[in-house]
Amino acid sequence: MRIRGFKHLVGFSLLTLLLVLLSGCSSHTTAQKTARSSQSVKKVSQVTTKSDPYAHWQSVKTVKLPILMYHSISSGNALKVPATEFKAEMTYLKQHHYRTLTTTEAVYALSHHRIPQSKIVWITLDDSYTDNKTAAWPILKANHQHATINFITGFATHANHLTLADAKQMQASQAIDFQSHTVRHLDLNSLTYQQQLTEMTASKRWLDQKLHQKTTVICYPAGRANQATVRAAKKAGYRYALSTAPGIATSKQDHYNLTRQRVTPGMSLTTFATLLN
Ligand SMILES: [Zn+2]
Repeated sequence: MRIRGFKHLVGFSLLTLLLVLLSGCSSHTTAQKTARSSQSVKKVSQVTTKSDPYAHWQSVKTVKLPILMYHSISSGNALKVPATEFKAEMTYLKQHHYRTLTTTEAVYALSHHRIPQSKIVWITLDDSYTDNKTAAWPILKANHQHATINFITGFATHANHLTLADAKQMQASQAIDFQSHTVRHLDLNSLTYQQQLTEMTASKRWLDQKLHQKTTVICYPAGRANQATVRAAKKAGYRYALSTAPGIATSKQDHYNLTRQRVTPGMSLTTFATLLN
């Protein structure tokens, strides 16, 4: 009797367990499984795209990268390029199949001597003027192009300059990224090493924290730099620095003095094209 009772109990328990497994849990388990497998697919595709976005980039002996320098996109003086001209220039780049690099891509190209295609360009706009948002950004977005704005962090509350909200909005569009143009846009040459370091570290911290990024490039105000400037740029954690000295930047250049090509108002497209070669 005892043995039979025990067997009965074991049989009943097993049956109960089976029923529970088949009923209540089954749909839940399937749902979980589905969720898990779709997650793993997602993960795999993320890993594939994230692991090496540069897989197809070609190694070259020397990367030649024209870095275009703009400031305000408006009219009035030699630093201001009218929106109509900026649009014609961006259209020229698009029609001639130039790839407009992001800062991350430009840094990768210069540091690894690799390029995604032969025609590349890095568009930079200095001083973070409001017209970069109202005039340049719509053109870049429409053309699916990218530009880097060298942001003066201390001017984010000044009239006629991009605010933090502007920067966040533009950054989210992925058409624009932001690098440092110091806090106050002072002539670094006239500052002590320590003052230069503060200008560079404080602006980097501001951009890093507020835009959730790792700022890698410093653009020297007025392009001026001395030996202390370069030391401070390295110390502050920048990997590359932009000057205003003319010329096409290369991967063999001093990382802390990349040359740029200035685009001036009234420039013909023929002249503009010469800046790229
Ligand atoms: Zn400037």
